[in-house]
Amino acid sequence: MVQVNGNYLKLKAGYLFPEIARRVKAFSEANPEAQVIRLGIGDVTEPLPEACRTAMKAAIDAMGTSEGFHGYGPEQGYPWLREAIARHDFQSRGCEVSAEEIFISDGSKCDSSNILDILGEGNRIAVTDPVYPVYVDSNVMAGRTGDADGVGRYGGLTYLPITAANGFTAEIPSGKVDLIYLCFPNNPTGAVASREQLKAWVDYARASGALILFDAAYEAFIQDPELPHSIYEIEGARECAIEFRSFSKNAGFTGTRCALTVVPRGLMGTAADGEKVELWGLWNRRQCTKFNGVSYIVQRGAEAVYSPEGQAQVKALTAFYMENAAIIRRELTAAGIQVYGGEQAPYVWLKTPEGLDSWGFFDQLLQRAHVVGTPGSGFGAAGEGYFRLSAFNSRANVEEAMRRVRAL
Ligand SMILES: *Cc1c(COP(=O)(O)O)cnc(C)c1O
Repeated sequence: MVQVNGNYLKLKAGYLFPEIARRVKAFSEANPEAQVIRLGIGDVTEPLPEACRTAMKAAIDAMGTSEGFHGYGPEQGYPWLREAIARHDFQSRGCEVSAEEIFISDGSKCDSSNILDILGEGNRIAVTDPVYPVYVDSNVMAGRTGDADGVGRYGGLTYLPITAANGFTAEIPSGKVDLIYLCFPNNPTGAVASREQLKAWVDYARASGALILFDAAYEAFIQDPELPHSIYEIEGARECAIEFRSFSKNAGFTGTRCALTVVPRGLMGTAADGEKVELWGLWNRRQCTKFNGVSYIVQRGAEAVYSPEGQAQVKALTAFYMENAAIIRRELTAAGIQVYGGEQAPYVWLKTPEGLDSWGFFDQLLQRAHVVGTPGSGFGAAGEGYFRLSAFNSRANVEEAMRRVRAL
């Protein structure tokens, strides 16, 4: 019989979202009249911006003509999209990122997992705790960890706790690590890193030869003009960081699929014999071999995000969700619950009240308010005692959910 990849067997069985779905299903079956409101999974709810839809329709029509037909595109993405991104997202903020360094893909989830393809087995890996589960599970699947312990921490990984005690910004590790996953604005805590905090990470990485994998999926939600949107706003980051971005959250592309990864030219790693190797070339080779690009239609839709209409519509979309976040923050605070995040990110991270643990609060919120959130412990051991509410929902649902919470 064929052998399976034993690394998959190390994965902790109860993955967070299936367990939430199981409990919600059981509750709904027992209480068919209850109107359950889901502020749990981080998916957007509002329609695609009109500028994107118009551009995609035009692209579909072009595909129906011999002159406008597009077959395989460049594996790295079309130059017009890469150039628009370089100009609007990076150069306009003083980041020295060129179109050639931008690789278009169908998602940051895949890119942040696939990047392990070009990195060696022996790297010491650091993740925050709580963490976006993809960073950890992709390392488990790739055989870069040991087994999980009782609280779900895998051997071989360095966990950097982010809690109220340290203001939800991980401390620089005291020991040496080679690969560091950072996500700011953060999923799940909604925390954001200041310029000084990112500089401390970049300084650490440069001094120790580490690589930072910076996930900026939520940069569009930053409200404070002083905060950095990209790691490349920090001097020296080109020598030590790869950045992931996505159209999923800012432009509602979760079901449309388009994202990008920045790999700066001159960013180096070392081979087993000590020779220096440019990561750009490895990632380019990896994408050309294993990926065939994002559809022409979707890339035209993503390009429209950078038109004046697209920019206005995306701004309105993020503002809408941030207003939801403000309502959640305000109402929870009025209900006497300690809240964090939700000011520069579409997630509110709350301290579970009355000494309840994360799943205890989940069950109470579901039973008594028919509201679904995400237990903090599902994102890591240090998330125990916390809970995530997402601002991705209709205004009516957010207001009704908060009315029910206030009534408890
Ligand atoms: C939603 C999200 C992404 C985006 O993933 P896509 O695959 O591009 O949809 C990336 N990182 C984090 C932390 C996210 O929450």
